[in-house]
Amino acid sequence: MLYSIADSVNTQKGLFMTDSEVAGWLYERAAAELPADADMGRIEKAVEAASLASRREAVERLVQRAADACPPACPDCGGRLKAHAGRRPRRVLARCGHILFKRGYGYCAACGRYAYPADAALGLHARASLSPLVQEVCALEALAAPACRKARDARRLTGLDIAPSVMHREARRQGEAARALRDRDAELAQTPEGLAALAASAAPGLPDSPFTLVIEIDAWNIRERDAWGLTGELAKKGEKPERWHWVYTGTVFRLDQRGATASGRPVISERGYVATRKGLDAFKRQLYAEAVRRGLFQAAHVLILADGAVWIWNIADDRFKGAAQRVDLYHVEEHLWALAADLHGKGTQAAREWAQPYIDWLTDRKDGALDVLRGLEGLRDAAQPLTTQQREALEREIGYFDTHKNRMDYKSAKAHGQPAGSGAIESTCSQYQRRFKLTGQFWSLEGDEAFLALETLHRNERWHLLFPHDKE
Ligand SMILES: [Zn+2]
Repeated sequence: MLYSIADSVNTQKGLFMTDSEVAGWLYERAAAELPADADMGRIEKAVEAASLASRREAVERLVQRAADACPPACPDCGGRLKAHAGRRPRRVLARCGHILFKRGYGYCAACGRYAYPADAALGLHARASLSPLVQEVCALEALAAPACRKARDARRLTGLDIAPSVMHREARRQGEAARALRDRDAELAQTPEGLAALAASAAPGLPDSPFTLVIEIDAWNIRERDAWGLTGELAKKGEKPERWHWVYTGTVFRLDQRGATASGRPVISERGYVATRKGLDAFKRQLYAEAVRRGLFQAAHVLILADGAVWIWNIADDRFKGAAQRVDLYHVEEHLWALAADLHGKGTQAAREWAQPYIDWLTDRKDGALDVLRGLEGLRDAAQPLTTQQREALEREIGYFDTHKNRMDYKSAKAHGQPAGSGAIESTCSQYQRRFKLTGQFWSLEGDEAFLALETLHRNERWHLLFPHDKE
């Protein structure tokens, strides 16, 4: 049995080993396990394995030191614990394997329960014996794909055997914590003091010159199984247990954070995200809080972009009064192409000749939308014979253009370097969907919400709120 680094540090007459002495020791250990012609992957693994026991022991002793230094105060209320004389051992899976340490505990009269202050100080959870780094591995892996598929990758990367059920449970727990943080922001946005605090948190990153804040909104759906354990019963009645539900999604960014790659693809350097399965009211509160966090109060102009869905404009009118509204140009063009197909046949030359001038007016003329609307009304009022279906389609599109005519200022959008479409939120939705619509996935409302909150916290660059060691 070879000695460990920790032993040698203490036993060499008070002298510490130099880095190159440690390296020499590691070299000998790893070399003894390797053929001389090993590839580099095996070399890296052998060095990791050779140092594993020493790292594990160093972590264990430092954890013990931190536990010993922890005062006997209640982690929840800060009150003094009625401490017990003995200490209790705890086993935790760390990145370098299982470690064991002892920590004091005591009774908090104010909270009416026993507490282990060192656990809280170390970032350990009462019901999950995983170290913070292993918790993070679980959360990151489960964000990429279901735990059943990621457990093996986690073992490849870390050497740790984490059962898929443990990984899933841990990621879910982190999701619940992310959700609590998110809901705390939404709660803050309900009071003037809370709003002021959120707005103040936005200030340091904001430019001195007047800026435009862009908010894009959309929705996608997610498949959940509502009736767990009732599959057989439902099947007898000829019903299927899974259901589709809306996930309301938003993104918030400053116009000056939007740029383009060398190939012209739009990129946004920094932005906020919101995604929830908890309904429109929850979405509205979360989006508002995120917008305030991103400079809503400091913005000179606010612009909301989306497709034509009524619920979106209701939110815009209710929560973002005074903001400019714009309906996605691509959706508007689709409306014109659909009407062209109804009037002149799908894909025909006549349809193209009819629709193209209108589409050009939208982007080239100051009041292009009004001109299109007048054109459509003129067509309706002309003596031209139309079929019932054509007339209905025409009426429908006149209604559409009439409703949204003030949301179609594409010429001025172009002049001000603003987006004409809601492409940013559409790509956001498809990114979320890639994770949440993986085959064979049926989640519950609460499970979905936890993972959506975790994914969103990660996107919002607030990972350090769950994993303080992540803060640089
Ligand atoms: Zn307490």
